[in-house]
Amino acid sequence: MSTHANLTKSEIRPLNVLYIGIDSISRLNFIRTMPKTHEFLANTGWVDFKGYNKIGDNTFPNLVAILTGKQYSVAKCFPTQIGCIDKYGFIWTDYQKLGYVTAYAEDESSINTFNFNKKGFSQKPTDYYFRTYAVAMDHLKKKKVDEMDYCTGPESSGERILNTAKDFINTFIDYPNFGFFWMNSFSHNKLNSPTRMDTKVAKFLEDIYESGYFNHSVIIFLSDHGIRFGNVRSTRTGWLEERLPYLFLWFPKWFQDKYPEKYYNLKVNAKSRLTTPYDLYMTIQDVLVLSGFKYNIKSSEGCAACSSLLDQLPSRSCEDVAIDTHWCTCFGYKNVDVNQEIVKRASNFVVNNINNVITSHSSVAKKCAKYSLSKVTRAAISIGKSNASKAYLLIIVETMPEAVFESTVTVVNGSITDRSYLSRLDSYFAHSRCVVGDLQKYCYCK
Ligand SMILES: [Zn+2]
Repeated sequence: MSTHANLTKSEIRPLNVLYIGIDSISRLNFIRTMPKTHEFLANTGWVDFKGYNKIGDNTFPNLVAILTGKQYSVAKCFPTQIGCIDKYGFIWTDYQKLGYVTAYAEDESSINTFNFNKKGFSQKPTDYYFRTYAVAMDHLKKKKVDEMDYCTGPESSGERILNTAKDFINTFIDYPNFGFFWMNSFSHNKLNSPTRMDTKVAKFLEDIYESGYFNHSVIIFLSDHGIRFGNVRSTRTGWLEERLPYLFLWFPKWFQDKYPEKYYNLKVNAKSRLTTPYDLYMTIQDVLVLSGFKYNIKSSEGCAACSSLLDQLPSRSCEDVAIDTHWCTCFGYKNVDVNQEIVKRASNFVVNNINNVITSHSSVAKKCAKYSLSKVTRAAISIGKSNASKAYLLIIVETMPEAVFESTVTVVNGSITDRSYLSRLDSYFAHSRCVVGDLQKYCYCK
């Protein structure tokens, strides 16, 4: 309590900030599986971002970008080191220093964003930090659905997070508050599973709307990426949806009236601009300035060109805003014959890369089998790029031992020059337990 004990009630209040996040839901899958929640957002006038593109594979890089503006893979330390994550510089600390009460809570303790294969925070990152609460939930009677702890004790795990968020904002209704609330337990593994919580999420939003909270708050309703594995990933929409999570923003009506140009920019950016988690980081800094604080906005270390979503953004390419080709949805692909010579070379190149990633972890590499190419499932070439000599080949391969990988290979004048990130399209939890960390995505334990 010490950090906010001296807060005073004020008639002119800075904007509260509330993130409500649900893991692994694309914009399209949100509309399909959570129609009641979507209808509420549409009826109350939220801004719906159609080109919000993820910048990394899974939860961690995308949330680090949102909360710190950084690309974690080039950070000075690795999150597998104790105390590393504490040094990242989270935006909630800036809010806390300016007198906000802060909170962070997440369900499904085994895969919490900053703890899964990582060391987590050494120091409590926010005034109210619910990691211990999430770990304590593990001792309750559980009901697993889709391999996740859907129910813990008498509540569903997601409901606990929503109730925690509601308690937090009701408790600090008279004070500026910043809350980050994240749910995995009903969305992470299966495409249709968010449906189960649609009514409860809609009710939560309706309740805080009725309470008047919306009048004083910026609300960020978001996901981090779409479904990353399973059958849907072998479809074209599955490729797109993995890369395009939903993002809806709420700004109060008085804000819209006070800053009409900024709100206009927001709507244009939502409808017709490529936007990123780094832009969201910049926006939440902008909120501090617009709330009247003397605050120096820091540029995003992960994307120097990224900017507040309330600014007039130019048309941008993925290169402009630090989105790797593998995650870029700005150009499409058309299928090519998998028997082409270049496809064969590219496929072997991808499998060699996977084996090289494994052998680079010299201390544990011997625990993992060496992959060989079994089958090229799909090969497709980029369309809509202006540089005729340069193209991207999207390659999906199946291997022995059995795994499915996707990679985007750069081809210049017929030569393979570079590979980008790799996606793992099948679920690997069951046979990667002999190693820890990011290597799990690649390792098939012997
Ligand atoms: Zn995620």
